Amino acid sequence: MKCIEEASGVKRGGIPFRYLGVKIAPKRLGVLDCQCLVDKVTERIDRLGTKHLSYAGRLTLIKSVLSTLHNYWARIFILPKTVLNSIDAICRAFLWHGQEQKESPALVSWNQICKPRRKGGLGLKLLHQWNVALMGKYVWWVEQKTDHLWVKWVHTIYIKNTTWKDYEPTITTSWAWRRLCAVKTQLKPWLYDEAWRDSGSDYTVKLGYSWLVDAGPDIFWYPWIHNRIMLPKHNFFIWLVAHKRLLTQDRLMRMHITQSNRCYLCAAEEEDLNHLFFSCSFSRQCVRLLEDWLSICLPYQGVIDWWIAIRERSLLKKQVVAAAVAQLMYLIWHARNRCRLESVIPLPVMLIKQVKELLQWRMRYSRVKIGSRRSQEWVNSLC
Ligand SMILES: [Zn+2]
Repeated sequence: MKCIEEASGVKRGGIPFRYLGVKIAPKRLGVLDCQCLVDKVTERIDRLGTKHLSYAGRLTLIKSVLSTLHNYWARIFILPKTVLNSIDAICRAFLWHGQEQKESPALVSWNQICKPRRKGGLGLKLLHQWNVALMGKYVWWVEQKTDHLWVKWVHTIYIKNTTWKDYEPTITTSWAWRRLCAVKTQLKPWLYDEAWRDSGSDYTVKLGYSWLVDAGPDIFWYPWIHNRIMLPKHNFFIWLVAHKRLLTQDRLMRMHITQSNRCYLCAAEEEDLNHLFFSCSFSRQCVRLLEDWLSICLPYQGVIDWWIAIRERSLLKKQVVAAAVAQLMYLIWHARNRCRLESVIPLPVMLIKQVKELLQWRMRYSRVKIGSRRSQEWVNSLC
């Protein structure tokens, strides 16, 4: 062996070792082995230094940068729960506070945020379930008896004459193999569903993830919140309103942060979500101007009622009205905050002017599908 080492110049290695940054070891992957992954997420947030970004901007960064960092590892191992929880905690703190660590309450629970958009969430991934869906790919390979050497090996050594569906690992098998069998058990109700098998579909990670998280009914208003015309910051804001999570005076008073729950804009009534956006005299003036411009009639009850009122209209009208409503509510909220800090109330007509300008600009550049001639005429009347 020494002769070979000397002749080749290659040193003799041992187990464990690192391959492409991942620890290769016969034993269970521990929390300390994955610490570098958590450090990488923390380091990325420090480097981004985005304390002053909007919620929508931070959400985009989490989706595109932070939650994908663990993808490479999650494709190879079932990561320890503690590690996934740590990454979740870092992303959560970053979303609400712009820093990787801060122990203060969030406006909406992480589980709600991680729901798919059509279930009322913001479409972030639940890391544990995503990890299971990624590993489901290997379960599918074993089921399909693909040509991979590893698949042939597990069939010869472990599964033998049993079927993969009924196979149960013994206590003497490796930890990684037992974890993979646990993934199979988790995916079993869908993987062996006869209707799905008869359809001849292939397993995909996206499909596996939807099996795990798609429980519960769809929320009918989700396509209007998430539409092309709406700016991401308005999108996030209206999502908070729909979930009734804005820090209005009534909530602040319940949390003992303020002594008064008087509305800043009219100084006549108590401020809660419904008053601020639907029954405050200031908001009513704004809504009336918006109704005139869009030639629609909006009920004065709540944001969900607004969407119900436009339910029967064409997709384009729904998108435009939803974007206009979101923009107006965002501006009313800003007017309320300005009034609180500077005691200045803008004119309703100025708010509507801003809504018009932004919406006209969005319709021109967001490549929306116009559809019928009537819709075209309606859009022309707005521009
Ligand atoms: Zn008011």
